[in-house]
Amino acid sequence: MSPSALLDPLRLRALKSAPRGTGPVIYWMSRDQRAEDNWALLFAQEMALDAKVPLAVVFILDASFPGATRRSFGFLLRGLAETASTLKDKGILFRLLEGNPPESLDAFVRQAGAGAVVTDFDPLRVKRGWKEKAASLLPCPLFEVDAHNIVPCWAASEKAEAGAYTLRPKLSRLLPRFLKDFPPLQKHPFGWEEDAPPNDFSGAFLRAAHVDGVFEVKETAPGTKAGLALLREFLQNRLDSYAADRNDPNRNGVSGLSPYLHFGQISPQRVALEASKTAVSEESRKAFLEELIVRRELADNFCLYNPAYDRTDGFPAWARKTLQEHQTDPREALYDRSRLENAETEDPLWNAAQAQLVRTGKMHGYLRMYWGKRILAWTSCPEEALEIAIALNDRYELDGRDPNGYAGIAWCIGGVHDRPWPERPVFGKIRTMTLAGCRRKFDVEKFIRRFL
Ligand SMILES: Cc1cc2nc3c(=O)[nH]c(=O)nc-3n(C[C@H](O)[C@H](O)[C@H](O)COP(=O)(O)OP(=O)(O)OC[C@H]3O[C@@H](n4cnc5c(N)ncnc54)[C@H](O)[C@@H]3O)c2cc1C
Repeated sequence: MSPSALLDPLRLRALKSAPRGTGPVIYWMSRDQRAEDNWALLFAQEMALDAKVPLAVVFILDASFPGATRRSFGFLLRGLAETASTLKDKGILFRLLEGNPPESLDAFVRQAGAGAVVTDFDPLRVKRGWKEKAASLLPCPLFEVDAHNIVPCWAASEKAEAGAYTLRPKLSRLLPRFLKDFPPLQKHPFGWEEDAPPNDFSGAFLRAAHVDGVFEVKETAPGTKAGLALLREFLQNRLDSYAADRNDPNRNGVSGLSPYLHFGQISPQRVALEASKTAVSEESRKAFLEELIVRRELADNFCLYNPAYDRTDGFPAWARKTLQEHQTDPREALYDRSRLENAETEDPLWNAAQAQLVRTGKMHGYLRMYWGKRILAWTSCPEEALEIAIALNDRYELDGRDPNGYAGIAWCIGGVHDRPWPERPVFGKIRTMTLAGCRRKFDVEKFIRRFL
């Protein structure tokens, strides 16, 4: 592989080594669904410019993607339509394909006579399986670029980290190397000879939408422009008070950026760069960057190195032991998935949080912790708690099916990235959260009135 003038070599790895062909370069876009601020696309363009060949971006929609809904497909496809239009202005072909991703990619690559493929990094199982299959099928090299993390996940650490306290110093050492501005995407001078068929975004939505009935939400507009507008508004008006307001679900104290980050419509690196430049209280900036960089990249580390990131075997040994010891403790109540999904518990705060999630596609971050921990309290075993929490999170959260979700839920139920706490019924040494604790933090009744 020839060295890149743009890309830090640590951001790149070869998933398939093969002689590079003379044809166009393809960026198989998956997790990072934006045109600007995208290291995978920049690298693909650099290769195409060097070889003086056309560049195409391909996204392959798999309607059978586990847990995906109308809500998530709608947000994704509307965002992609905007990305396609930005790419068109840059002379880059965008193709929306449907089907099995590795097979559709391979067919497209062979038809186009492509010389190399670049894709973006994702630590989740399904995506890793697709890439493994793609590497076995493709007739040309396949490169993977971590375009999502500021410090590339595999460069930050080579193992599953115990917690933020072990990852933080590793990230701090590498951040000066990686937290740099992006070069702009260039207008691509080498076009495709043949006209491509138009992309059918609405048809793809209708074909994918049959799988689920979870409605789209109006509160959060999809796409890079909307994400960047929200970022600007947050930096101007709300970042300054982030440290004071972020744990109060009645205040608009958090950024609300997670859906845009999840779908890669905006880059965490762009958010970190802009937050670092904005004149705000140091305490708030530090608190925000801790979540955006350390906590978020810790979640990717968890999913990359812990194959059981969505199972109780992924919990630390002390947590599994203590949960086992409290397995037969009487529960204050037992609810099945449907009672939980329909917000039919005896706890109005939990019901209000669940209603917020179903209605708006976003539960406040503080309440996500309470929500996850109560599910452990109200189910017969941690396996059931984990399964229900992941199912509801991935079904209704706009930012669901994300490493942050698997890590957050494993933190709530299985002590992942946490430490043992004084022993309590059911929870054992897993940290608990109570309604009384919430009352001390914020006006619980006010929140309940908003959503019930
Ligand atoms: C049970 C549970 C489920 C969760 N499910 C998800 C999920 O499906 N998707 C998801 O993106 N996050 C999830 N989180 C993490 C966190 O709650 C959300 O990222 C955050 O609430 C998103 O809102 P925001 O963008 O306004 O966050 P802000 O407070 O403005 O933070 C900025 C960014 O930092 C990152 N971040 C913030 N808190 C965390 C955290 N605890 N862990 C990792 N990264 C964080 C996110 O990328 C977020 O967008 C979950 C947490 C818990 C406890």
